[in-house]
Amino acid sequence: MLKVDAEKCIGCGACEEQCAFGAIKVEDGCAVVGDGCTLCGGCIDACEAEALHIEEAAPGRETADLAAWQGIWVFAEFRHGSVAPVTYELLGVGRRLADQRGVALSAVLPGSGVREECDGLIAAGADRVYLVDDPALAQYREDVYGRVLEELIRRYQPEVVLAGATAIGRSVIPQVATRLGAGLTADCTGLDIRPEDGTLLQTRPAFGGNIMATIECPDTRPQMATVRPRVMAPAEPDPARSGEVVDVEIAPGHLGSRVEVLETVVSQTEQVNIQEVEVLVAGGRGVEGEKGFALIRELAEELGGAVAASRAAVDSGWISYPHQVGQTGKTVCPKLYIACGISGAVQHAVGMQSAEVVVAINRDENAPIFNIATYGLVGDLFEVVPLLARKIQEMKK
Ligand SMILES: Cc1cc2nc3c(=O)[nH]c(=O)nc-3n(C[C@H](O)[C@H](O)[C@H](O)COP(=O)(O)OP(=O)(O)OC[C@H]3O[C@@H](n4cnc5c(N)ncnc54)[C@H](O)[C@@H]3O)c2cc1C
Repeated sequence: MLKVDAEKCIGCGACEEQCAFGAIKVEDGCAVVGDGCTLCGGCIDACEAEALHIEEAAPGRETADLAAWQGIWVFAEFRHGSVAPVTYELLGVGRRLADQRGVALSAVLPGSGVREECDGLIAAGADRVYLVDDPALAQYREDVYGRVLEELIRRYQPEVVLAGATAIGRSVIPQVATRLGAGLTADCTGLDIRPEDGTLLQTRPAFGGNIMATIECPDTRPQMATVRPRVMAPAEPDPARSGEVVDVEIAPGHLGSRVEVLETVVSQTEQVNIQEVEVLVAGGRGVEGEKGFALIRELAEELGGAVAASRAAVDSGWISYPHQVGQTGKTVCPKLYIACGISGAVQHAVGMQSAEVVVAINRDENAPIFNIATYGLVGDLFEVVPLLARKIQEMKK
């Protein structure tokens, strides 16, 4: 919180002049801080009398009345013309948490021209959509989105806020949590709630994926968590569901940004979407190089799928990072995952073990990948993979 020391303030107005958000005014010879303050600190630098300072929130400052914080929120991420699929996955788990706790599930949708997305969010489980539809939100800008979310959370006081662990979620959510003094658990793989006190039980891999830790934030609200895409299943949409759309106005002072977006280009990373295909053929160190990946690609094409990889293959430069599956790559959940020359290290397994069917091809019969495989083929991938591709080709004929 920005504090004014009335004893030191000389009412010179330098702070008022400096504030881009119109959040500080000199009244009766002394600076007064209003609602639009973003704690940017510009006025502090401008104040020669050293009359301004930011007072750090005491730990657990939101503890005063935990019961005042109610409801489960999902940040509805809108990008490239549609709501990100992870939003629907979060509404699936959010619905369960809200029912267990007996509270409403709400989606928060910031954007420009996004009103028509509200029905889809309600069909996916939301009881309410907080819609912030403003041209200033047409492009994602971390500072503006952060301020909007912070403002909404302070105004409506949800007990839980969930967001996707996407590039956008990872950039904006920590900033909001820090400003609110709230607890945040990143990359959760499981979420539950204790109905009696509303504590969110946030489970995620820890210590390099060797243990699963369940984290609680009992003293502060909201409890914030991010979840990677494809970790949770979306609920079946029900177009007959009804819900409320709340139009939220944000003070213009909160919508200014230091960032100007000149152009948005869809990156190649997003074009290779291994999270959205039903069949993945993955190569590891056993594939031995780019030539080996040509075999993997052939099999993937025969099956109408895409190519994935272990970190060892990516680190070796045989294939690019967007293909990496695992703890530091993507989490995938295809119908069929064929792991070729991949040992099945825990950091790889956490990214693919929820695939419906796993086929492992490995020449070492003791490779850990066989512990999670539905079908295991012990053999040399350079023989087995072309054989499989040929067989599928024949079957198609
Ligand atoms: C913090 C951290 C994060 C990590 N994140 C990730 C991650 O996101 N994703 C990831 O994948 N890893 C990750 N790792 C690395 C992980 O621990 C393993 O090192 C990596 O997954 C091993 O990749 P691999 O299975 O391809 O290689 P290896 O473990 O070397 O296994 C190669 C396998 O190929 C088999 N093989 C060799 N030749 C043939 C052949 N001709 N035919 C058939 N089989 C053959 C071998 O028997 C062996 O089982 C991470 C590690 C750390 C510490």
